Amino acid sequence: MTDSFVFAPAAIPSVAVAGDTRRFPVRRIFCVGRNYADHAREMGSDPVREPPFFFTKPADAVVDDGTAIPYPPETANLHHEIELVVAIGRAGFNVAPADALGLVFGYAVGLDMTRRDLQNKAKDTGRPWDWGKAFDNSAPCAAIRPVAEIGHPAGGAITLDVNGTRRQTGDIADLIWPVADVIAIVSRSMALKPGDLIYTGTPSGVGAVRPGDRLEGRIAGVGTLAVSIGEPA
Ligand code: MN
Repeated sequence: MTDSFVFAPAAIPSVAVAGDTRRFPVRRIFCVGRNYADHAREMGSDPVREPPFFFTKPADAVVDDGTAIPYPPETANLHHEIELVVAIGRAGFNVAPADALGLVFGYAVGLDMTRRDLQNKAKDTGRPWDWGKAFDNSAPCAAIRPVAEIGHPAGGAITLDVNGTRRQTGDIADLIWPVADVIAIVSRSMALKPGDLIYTGTPSGVGAVRPGDRLEGRIAGVGTLAVSIGEPA
């Protein structure tokens, strides 16, 4: 290794796998923009079944369950978005929806943390979303539950509590674009590879968190995720 690079390469980002000492190595993180009708409405959009749109986060934005995340810089409006995360275990390009679930290694509870003020400014000015979405520690992800253990969850309550108060409630059965469709559509534009994560969108109730807050997410049949917000780094 020392002969190949001018300095030691960064560690491979990874997520825990439930019931396994080995971890899931993260390659890319894809995120669906609006995928629950009630959240589309709260963000000021008409939730007709338009083709989904996507943004990405860097692989090293992942954060383990149980972590205290420093409050990120350059925002006064850090939002939580609780989401079902799909972990890809097999490569696929231009996959048919009927074959798409065959790519899935497992599922997890995740948070698409968002600097909403920066995202809104980007929307208003037609600029990229990256600074609002793709910052350090912006992708908490609980341990992945393998398909071999839990199958492919098609429905179940998805909730987020902040300091014990319910903020977000939905059901993954209400995804406008179900997991198989999301995988198929992403794979038309980009080759999916083992290690890819897809954050599938959030139900309504997104809102701000502050240092000291404790976030607890849950998806029935998938698991739980708990992170806290620390002081700015
Ligand atoms: Mn989201």
